[in-house]
Amino acid sequence: MSDIPAVPEEAEARHQRLAALDRAHVWHPFTQMQTWLEPLPGDEPLIIAHARGSWLFDTRGRKYLDAISSLWVNVHGHRKSEIDSAIKLQLSSVAHSTLLGLGSPPSIELAAQLIQRAPKAEGVPPLNKVFYSDSGSTSVEVALKMAFQHWQLRGKPKKTRFVALAEGYHGDTLGAVSVGGMDLFHQLFQPLLFDCLRIPTPYVYRWPTGPKHCLESAALAAEAIIAGRRDEIAAVVLEPVVQGAAGMIIHPPGYLKRIARACKENGVLLICDEVATGFGRTGTLFACEQEEVVPDFLCLAKGITGGYLPLAATLTTDAVFESFLGPFESKRTFFHGHSYTGNALACAAALASLRIFDDEGTLGHVRQMAERFAEGLRGIAELKHVGDVRQRGLMIGIELVRDRATREEFDYTARIGHKVCIAGRKREVMLRPLGNVVVLMPPLSIAPSEVDLLIDAVRDSIIEVTEQ
Ligand SMILES: *Cc1c(COP(=O)(O)O)cnc(C)c1O
Repeated sequence: MSDIPAVPEEAEARHQRLAALDRAHVWHPFTQMQTWLEPLPGDEPLIIAHARGSWLFDTRGRKYLDAISSLWVNVHGHRKSEIDSAIKLQLSSVAHSTLLGLGSPPSIELAAQLIQRAPKAEGVPPLNKVFYSDSGSTSVEVALKMAFQHWQLRGKPKKTRFVALAEGYHGDTLGAVSVGGMDLFHQLFQPLLFDCLRIPTPYVYRWPTGPKHCLESAALAAEAIIAGRRDEIAAVVLEPVVQGAAGMIIHPPGYLKRIARACKENGVLLICDEVATGFGRTGTLFACEQEEVVPDFLCLAKGITGGYLPLAATLTTDAVFESFLGPFESKRTFFHGHSYTGNALACAAALASLRIFDDEGTLGHVRQMAERFAEGLRGIAELKHVGDVRQRGLMIGIELVRDRATREEFDYTARIGHKVCIAGRKREVMLRPLGNVVVLMPPLSIAPSEVDLLIDAVRDSIIEVTEQ
């Protein structure tokens, strides 16, 4: 552990002034504000003043490795010169003009790039159209509404329902919450939500009849619903390969392909939410590629701009697009759009980020760092209170359990994941738990020495909290 440096008086004064204003006026997302206002020792709110590469620096000059990529968005590190320059260059033309009835060079160039790089497979109609919005939640809302309207326009008015994973997460707007299944976040809002058909999460570690049955039973359960209720189902929506917010649950290989096949065979659309998995996180540019699946909708956000600016895109096929074509008076239009849809600065950042993937061989680096993590994680997997370590590319979940043999969970109120994250701060790493799962999703540009530092810090923090 490093010694905590003395904070210069001026910096401390600025920190105190900002902290007081924050407490007075800012309501933080997903945060119990009473705990925020009256923190336990060591848990005092931090204010991040600047950043560089994988590192965040707070107002007191302390540094932290950004192990969750500023909530899963950062890709090439902070203050990446190519992205900084691309935004500045775009600023010299225009910051924003609307896409409602007008075009803009960066949104056009980016659409072409996204289509060129989207998952493809032999004999499957490609994704060919890009609809922009501004967050992961809206990218999912757009897909849900498009899928619904598609069937209305195709003369199948009964196809109105959605199939979703029991523990899915697709964002916090009401449509996205309706297809989400995380009770802690979603239960309360039940009266406001539309009902959907649930399929079990293929959660290998906790599959009721044992891990080796997970793929077959989960796929069969999903196939039965998709085939049995095909006439009512508009689409299946899921996070392919890794369910991030549910605790980095990694699906057994082959699951996505089975679902995609069931959708095709039964005339049901497939919405793949790659808001978390997209842009290299899992080792390929998109997770769908790993099972050679091309969905009818691909939802993208988070890493799309390299973690710089809010932007989202919903990609779809010509078949869906063509359902909406007709004369003006036909009212087949997709009546949806946001003020900042396709923002020019955000699109310029996204284009620069995609260029870096080519110029720096980002995906190759991800695979190398993923291997380095895998080695380091072996030591963590043996700890007394680590039940399961899951990894796909640079998405890692470490599930803490009270008892390894019985897989008994720690009590929710023990906040064990949170305590590990607080212990991490002393070791210069910034973590955020998902319940009892400590998640690691560092910038894809993380350096080998930073991987080692992160592994050591996480291991020591887990030991401090669970064994001492
Ligand atoms: C974060 C996330 C969303 C929501 O994105 P926001 O930009 O926070 O609205 C949707 N789907 C998945 C899979 C996510 O991880």
